[in-house]
Amino acid sequence: MAYAITQTCCNDASCVSVCPVNCIHPTPDEPEFGTTDMLYIDPQACIDCGACADACPVDAVFPVDRLRGPDTVFGDLNRDWFRDHPSDHAWGRPSFPRSLPGELGVLRIAVVGTGPSAGYTAQELLRSTSAELTMIDRLPVTGGLLRHGVAPDHQSTKRIAESFASVFHDPRLRMHLNVEVGADVTHEELAAHHHAVIYAVGAAADRRLGVPGEELPGSLPATAFVGWYNADPTVPADAVELSAERVVVVGNGNVAVDIARILLTDPDRLAATDIADHALAALRRSRVREVVLLARRGPEQAAWTRAEFLALRQLPGVEVVVEDHPEVRAAIEAASGAQAAAGARPAADSRSASGPQAALLAGLPLVPYDGAAEPGPGRRIVLRFLSAPVGLAGDGRVEELTVERTTLVDGERAEATGRTDVLRTGLVVRSIGHRGVPVPGLPFDERTGTVAHRGGRVVDPATGRPLPGAYVVGWAKRGPSGGIGANRACARETVDALLDDATARALPEPGSGHKEFDRLVRSRRPDAVGLKELRAVDRAERERGEAEGRPRVKLATVPELLAAGRRR
Ligand code: NAP
Repeated sequence: MAYAITQTCCNDASCVSVCPVNCIHPTPDEPEFGTTDMLYIDPQACIDCGACADACPVDAVFPVDRLRGPDTVFGDLNRDWFRDHPSDHAWGRPSFPRSLPGELGVLRIAVVGTGPSAGYTAQELLRSTSAELTMIDRLPVTGGLLRHGVAPDHQSTKRIAESFASVFHDPRLRMHLNVEVGADVTHEELAAHHHAVIYAVGAAADRRLGVPGEELPGSLPATAFVGWYNADPTVPADAVELSAERVVVVGNGNVAVDIARILLTDPDRLAATDIADHALAALRRSRVREVVLLARRGPEQAAWTRAEFLALRQLPGVEVVVEDHPEVRAAIEAASGAQAAAGARPAADSRSASGPQAALLAGLPLVPYDGAAEPGPGRRIVLRFLSAPVGLAGDGRVEELTVERTTLVDGERAEATGRTDVLRTGLVVRSIGHRGVPVPGLPFDERTGTVAHRGGRVVDPATGRPLPGAYVVGWAKRGPSGGIGANRACARETVDALLDDATARALPEPGSGHKEFDRLVRSRRPDAVGLKELRAVDRAERERGEAEGRPRVKLATVPELLAAGRRR
């Protein structure tokens, strides 16, 4: 029986490199890689060896006959990919691990950040060189978006953190947490102690709607909402209030889907995860019954991935409906018709591995919707398309959101129609994407919200010349899109650029070494956190979790994290 890849696929292609028959696609050498929601196993070519399941960092690969419940759909999804993308499974060009000429000596490399892109970068450097690494994070705990972004009910995705934990404890790596580059140490100081500095700082800010009332209490960016349920110590425990019956989430990406799912999932199910204690308590008290997912464009333009949306459709006890609108109805019918014409599946079957996004909505009830009325009984998600937020209002906090009906022009651009209506709501979450913040001392591209770079080398935008020894990786390099696994190929590109520069002797020689750097950090941040303290935090969280049958109970404030670290 063949294996199949399921919903939690992280796309990092660890499985591809261990498959002895090259039956997992798209591979990193194929043009679709990075554009598909997930990777797929060809059941005709799979020899059932299970190597992919062993290599998968997120436990997403199973024999087809062991798939149960909602996961059974993934047998078809894997098979269907190859119906649409026939492959001869011929091997691409071999690639070999990079190594540096021995006479270069040991490179000292600083990595700023400890999230997924930093983890893959450190892994790549430790595997392919004898470099010594310094890792720095402004928070007193590692993980970045793996800890504070991935939803708590996606525990298998968080398992990637375990493979990074072994990287972070490598004897060639030193850790300085609770230290902010730009505030506690400068880029110049990092550069003076290392041959190269790689910035893996993500995209920490949220995008703005730019509409009146956006600052009212009850209007939150997704970064705050997600940080709140994930125990991000920069987000207060009382940042979210769930006293309203209707919540509007603006945006149609995977983060919006995560937020809708967490808001309406039975808290007893979340209680088995590492969700923040304060969030679990608030969700138990929550009055929220209806979540409106608001999209300014149509269903075909939705940014969520198929697997995430299918999981939303299968949320126990939650009805998913679509606001009825002629353009939306037409888009769903057209997509379903196109899918039926193209292949084997009936029009109402939305399980195809590829094809129009709008076909995913086939079979969902199309209902008239009045956002000014009380939400009906039961828990439901309302998909409202062609609706752009134009203003929030309320007496001291959000009470209503005004939306303007849009129409699609040229098949993809939203054009305002001038027709508005009002949704009564006490909480509006804008989930419209992240934005990078400038790193002091580095050139920043305001247009893309990323560090200015070419292939991972930081460049001066005025001259196009690289800043010797400065590199960037992850969302700070590519912008805020792509899941966790996309960072693996991105890290490889940046590390390759660095190794090319090292081989060409283009890296500046640092004036002093890591002992001096450790002293500098301690003088600036006596409360900096190292690996021993990090281990103590991890142990404390796991012990608390064990007592409650949870993977861990996260410490949610900086003082708690520092105190747990000191108790080592
Ligand atoms: P995203 O995928 O870029 O989606 C942003 C959404 O916001 C789009 O629907 C966009 O609509 C909408 N939007 C932008 N500006 C708007 C405005 N002014 N008014 C109304 N709507 C607006 O961003 P994201 O959801 O934050 O996700 C970021 C990345 O993380 C994505 O690659 C995502 O797949 C990944 N991620 C993955 C997972 C997972 O795999 N489980 C979970 C979370 C995040 P338009 O298209 O009309 O601009």
